[in-house]
Parts: sequence; C-alpha cells; structure tokens
Amino acid sequence: MKIFAPKETDPIETRASLDPAAVKKLVGLGAEVVVESGIGVLSDHPDSSYEEAGATVTTDPAGSLGSADIVTRVRKPSSEEVGQLKEGAIHISFLDPFNEKELIGRFASQKATAISLEMVPRTTLAQKMDAISSQANLAGYVSVITAANRLNGIFPMMMTPAGTISPAKVFVVGIGVAGLQAIATAKRLGARVTAFDVRPEALEQAESLGAKALRIDLGETSGTDQGYAKELTPEQLEKQRQAQAKVCAQSDVVITTAKVFGRKPPVLIKKDVVDGMQPGSVIVDLAAETGGNVEGITPGEETVTENGVKLVGLANFEGQVSRHASQVLAANFANMIEHFWDEESNSLKINLDDEIQKGCVITHDGSIVHERFQD
Ligand code: NAD
Repeated sequence: MKIFAPKETDPIETRASLDPAAVKKLVGLGAEVVVESGIGVLSDHPDSSYEEAGATVTTDPAGSLGSADIVTRVRKPSSEEVGQLKEGAIHISFLDPFNEKELIGRFASQKATAISLEMVPRTTLAQKMDAISSQANLAGYVSVITAANRLNGIFPMMMTPAGTISPAKVFVVGIGVAGLQAIATAKRLGARVTAFDVRPEALEQAESLGAKALRIDLGETSGTDQGYAKELTPEQLEKQRQAQAKVCAQSDVVITTAKVFGRKPPVLIKKDVVDGMQPGSVIVDLAAETGGNVEGITPGEETVTENGVKLVGLANFEGQVSRHASQVLAANFANMIEHFWDEESNSLKINLDDEIQKGCVITHDGSIVHERFQD
C-alpha cells in the first residue's frame, strides 16, 4: 500500500499533511510512504527528516499521484490532479464539499474514494481524526496573539509607580473549539473576557474558563445532534446584533469565530457597530476565509476603518503556527489510516457501514455515496 503526500500548491498554505512522526507511524503499519520534496519546508521539516522517518522523497508529484493507493493532502486538489489518480485510490483532504459539486463529480468519474476531513463526525471515537477541531484550536490561539500584536496597548493589568494600566477588554463571539481556545489564551495574557454563543452550554464552558458570559434571550436556539449551532432567523440575528453593539463599543478586541455547519457564516457585526468602536480597537475575524462574521472585512487582508478600527481578516490562521498545526493534522491523518487499517490485506479498508466512514466518505467506486451530496 503506497501513501503519497504531495507538497501543497496553494501559496497561502504553510502546513503539510504528513510530518516525520506521522510517517514513522504509517511505515510502522507496513505502508510505503512517499512525500514530495519540500513538503515540510514551511513547517520546519527538511526532506532529510522525512527520509530518516522512513519515507521516500520524490520530485515527481504527478507520477506519485498516479501510482498511490492513498493520497493525503491539506487543501482540496485541482480537477486535473483528481484526473491523475488511479482507479480505486483513496484521497483524504479538506474538500469544502458543500461548495465543490464539480470536484466531487470528478472524484466519482475517476472511480476514486474521496474522504472529506470536514465531514468526520464529532463523536468520541472519531476525535483523534477530527482535523476541524485540531486546527480550530490553533486558529483560536493565533487569533488572540494576532490581536495582541496589533493592539497599541497591553492585555494584562499593570500596576506601576506611574499609575495603573487597565486590562484589555476582549469580546469573543462564537464559543466553539476556536472560541474556547481564544478565551483561554486571552485570559492567560491577563485580559478581561466577555463571550457570547447561541448554544447555552457554550456560555457555561466560557464561564468555567473565567470569561463573563453575555446572555441574550433569543428564544429557541437548539443545536444539531452533532453539537453544531443551527442557523438563526433574521429576527434572532438582528436581536443578537443589537445586544452585542454595546459590548463591542466597550471592547479593545473583538474576536469572531461563529460558523454554521454547511452554510455561510452569519454576519454578526455590521458597519454601524464597527463605526461605534474606539480608535485603535482590533477585530479579528476567524470566519473571514469563508465569508466573514464582520461587515467590511476582506479575507486575507488587514484594513483600518475611517474611525481607526483595525480589521484583521487573515486567512489560514492555523498556518501561522505551521509546525504545530502540521503536527496535529498529520496525527489526524495517521490516526484515521491506522483506525481503518486492515492487517490482512495490509491496506485501508473502506466500509460504508462504519459510522465514521458513513460520515466522511463522499465518493466511492464510481458514485457519490454520501447522502447529503447525492443530489
Ligand atoms: P463551529 O466552527 O461550527 O462554530 C463555532 C461556534 O459558532 C459554535 O460554538 C457555534 O455555536 C457558534 N455560533 C453559530 N452561530 C452563532 C451566532 N449567531 N452567534 C454566536 N455564535 C454562533 O463549531 P465547532 O467549534 O466546530 O464546534 C461545534 C460543536 O461541536 C461544539 O459544541 C463542540 O464542543 C463540539 N465538538 C464535539 C466534538 C466531539 O465530541 N468529538 C469534537 C469537536 C467539537
């Protein structure tokens, strides 16, 4: 069984799908691992470290794509790359399946098995392969470090002979995996944190980290059976925006992380609220890459509004800590392959009756097998 990990082609991507530790684990299973030369150059792993772990390094990605049984990569492939896969190959990556109908069709016509990391179920058993969580954790950390770096002030309270500096006020909107890590990081730096989420249990988690929960009576806001939030009605969203406006105006930093699975993120902070914020305050929007929670934010860019508010819409936040992001992502890949490894055939076994595979296998054997994408 040959596993191939190509170098990422998107210029924004700094992570690698496999690191040397994951290679070692996969080689230990009995797999042959091939990586493209330079795969780890942006995550501090030279080719030699992959070779030491047991991989072969290639400078012919097209040839290796065509001969691999399993391909691991971070970002979705191009249609051309899918066309290079051999029949029956298993391709594991982020796939953005809700927006990539054509690519999914291409996988099916190529008779390749596409596994989408976004669709791994949020269950206890699948936690070790949950790349959405492993990456969101790091993105939450980076969002706070980025805000601290952009703010012309400090986070902790400081008592000096020249007077007392008040702690920074940080408002976190969306208390999922990224939001919880943002709260914990901001607290560690000494900020005073307020947080809001539509899920009541998330407010309790925020409080257990020492944040003040903002409570807004929005009526029915129950989540899905996977623990995800449901989309709010326009009336609920308006109520939320109004209730948040005062907190935003008083905050030095606002971090937004709100997402609704399979849909565009909700716009939670409109221009009038940004206009009401203090000059020098900073908004970091972790949802910017997929549409943004903040009106006027530009994905991949940092801008300053007329009233001096810094809008940070960086993309790939977790990629700023590429070594650790690659470490946990590669572990997710290796755990998934190990979990489904069949010792008898020395290969990854596709079993569409398995609960985890039912959730994340999108195409198999020439068809779209995932029921959410069949139409
Ligand atoms: P996500 O990235 O889909 O969304 C981020 C947060 O935004 C969520 O907390 C969501 O409730 C919130 N949100 C949505 N609309 C909002 C709005 N209008 N205003 C404010 N916040 C809004 O979520 P996630 O971080 O991937 O986590 C989703 C859930 O899954 C969490 O409950 C998490 O604990 C759970 N989870 C479970 C497992 C597991 O059991 N294995 C693993 C990971 C996550």
